[in-house]
Amino acid sequence: MDRDNDTIAAIATAAGMAGVGVVRVSGPLAPAIAHSLLGRAPRARHAHLSVFRDTTGETIDHGLLLYFPAPASYTGEDVLELQGHGSMVLLDELLRHVCTLGARLARAGEFTERAFLNGKLDLAQAEAVADLIAARSRAGAHAAMRSMEGVFSRKVEAVQEQLIHLRVHVEAAIDFPEEEIDFLADPVIQRQLDALRASLDDLLIETRRGVRLNDGLSVAIVGRPNVGKSSLLNALAGRERAIVTDIAGTTRDIVHELVSLDGMVIELADTAGLRDTDDVVEREGVRRANDALRKADVALLVTTASSVEDDMALLDDVPEDIARLVILNKQDVDPASSDGKDRIALSALTGEGVNALRARLRELAGFRQGDGNFSARRRHVLALEATAAQLVHADEALAARAGELAAESLRTAQASLGEITGSHTADDLLGSIFGSFCIGK
Ligand code: GDP
Repeated sequence: MDRDNDTIAAIATAAGMAGVGVVRVSGPLAPAIAHSLLGRAPRARHAHLSVFRDTTGETIDHGLLLYFPAPASYTGEDVLELQGHGSMVLLDELLRHVCTLGARLARAGEFTERAFLNGKLDLAQAEAVADLIAARSRAGAHAAMRSMEGVFSRKVEAVQEQLIHLRVHVEAAIDFPEEEIDFLADPVIQRQLDALRASLDDLLIETRRGVRLNDGLSVAIVGRPNVGKSSLLNALAGRERAIVTDIAGTTRDIVHELVSLDGMVIELADTAGLRDTDDVVEREGVRRANDALRKADVALLVTTASSVEDDMALLDDVPEDIARLVILNKQDVDPASSDGKDRIALSALTGEGVNALRARLRELAGFRQGDGNFSARRRHVLALEATAAQLVHADEALAARAGELAAESLRTAQASLGEITGSHTADDLLGSIFGSFCIGK
């Protein structure tokens, strides 16, 4: 492969719509390929109506040819887009022909990877392209669009700037060992660190919300057999799914249900009625239920007004960072009061009160009115958490007036933060991110 001429080509299709697509070409050979197809040099950003012919002169298709010279293109390289009649067979033939003219088939995500390498997008924006394509809800797609536009990246960069500012002060202090202690005792440094930690905490909250917008909210339903968990799942999902019976322990498997609430995706897992049992099948159900609980964003305890005191113990094993909601079901026969927030009285049977639960779930899923939403990934949360942990170390080191240690923690913090936008990134990370794209993107 002649690296200098390395030009990639692929059929880029609209998600889930084979046949609606273009042949996309990127690299130094793009203008020559355009010339060959057109019989003359293409005009930049102009739609040429043309007949695409193969090497024997036979017509492949009629269509539009668009040429975007570098650097004003998606990848930052010379880019060519060929729009045909939408037949997959013809698009494929056109792609082969482009390859005989010197291009090679693109790997998954390679167009976006080139855009990243050419500085057109940072890593978080590139990931948002993939999330946009894969979005399962309106709110998720809008949030991914905002991340692709750089909303999330700019917030990360703002924190990064604060961090660099602080590093300048600390590094300066350790450059003057005889005055280091005085420098480090300067309240300005402590104030900067406190402000930085506060900004980072705010960003972490927003980023976790962004992950939920992207992935959907995961809700694990727990409760004793027969309290109405399956009925509630059905009431939320709006159709019969889980098996509803009067026999305790019917729900032996975890039923996962995707529920769309005003354009948000919520994944509900109905756990087997948690209880000690000797039944092998049911014990396996309980094990899976516990698993689902650990992975959930919200634990939803379903109980009734008369059993709530005893049943609260079922939430004892729920990890600290998981939100809890208590549902007082069967209020049609067992009246209960609701606070509309963490304790909601409803009837899965009559549907009364179910909308209050929907509203609360939407709130927990991170959807906010207005345009503050952006999408994020778990990887970003981990990077922010690692950054926050380093800032705790830096704080301790500063309190102990240990300048070198504080400086080192701040350096590491900056590297962790830089993993989000890709200013500090290992090659294997890039491989795993772009490898998960579809071909042609
Ligand atoms: P699970 O074992 O917790 O999944 O409970 P089910 O959903 O299978 O419900 C057990 C029984 O309670 C069924 O007979 C349901 O019809 C009944 N049930 C569920 N929700 C309500 C409710 O809100 N009111 C009344 N009266 N009965 C309910």
